[in-house]
Amino acid sequence: MPVKLWRKPLDTNKIKLPRGKVHIIDDRCKECGFCIEFCPKKVLDKSPKFNRKGYHPPMVKDEDKCVSCGLCEIICPDFAIFNTQEAPEAQDANEAQEAHDGGETRKGKDETEKKKGGGN
Ligand code: SF4
Ligand code: SF4
Repeated sequence: MPVKLWRKPLDTNKIKLPRGKVHIIDDRCKECGFCIEFCPKKVLDKSPKFNRKGYHPPMVKDEDKCVSCGLCEIICPDFAIFNTQEAPEAQDANEAQEAHDGGETRKGKDETEKKKGGGN
């Protein structure tokens, strides 16, 4: 059963989560699955394709959820995955574009997930 935090910082609604981009070097992967298992946001999944060594590398399932924590990069024993953080200006521009296109913004998605009782 997940542990509920009884204290929450008062400025959580002012904090902007960073957005990350995941880069996978398929042919270095040996399919240990660490990055998939331990990503706190469940951004990754096993790809159906094979790399040159005959393993299934990870694939990005939902890049919008990546918070650029860098855990996948640290945990990979084969330096097969790394992460770059989107510049805040680019992040703002993307969110403005999403809002303009009528799509849900990241904040909107998070709120929808909360209402559904889901989210990570
Ligand atoms: S940087 Fe963090 S959130 Fe993003 S894919 Fe890697 S482990 Fe997951
Ligand atoms: S941690 Fe590295 S080697 Fe293991 S599955 Fe992920 S990318 Fe492949």
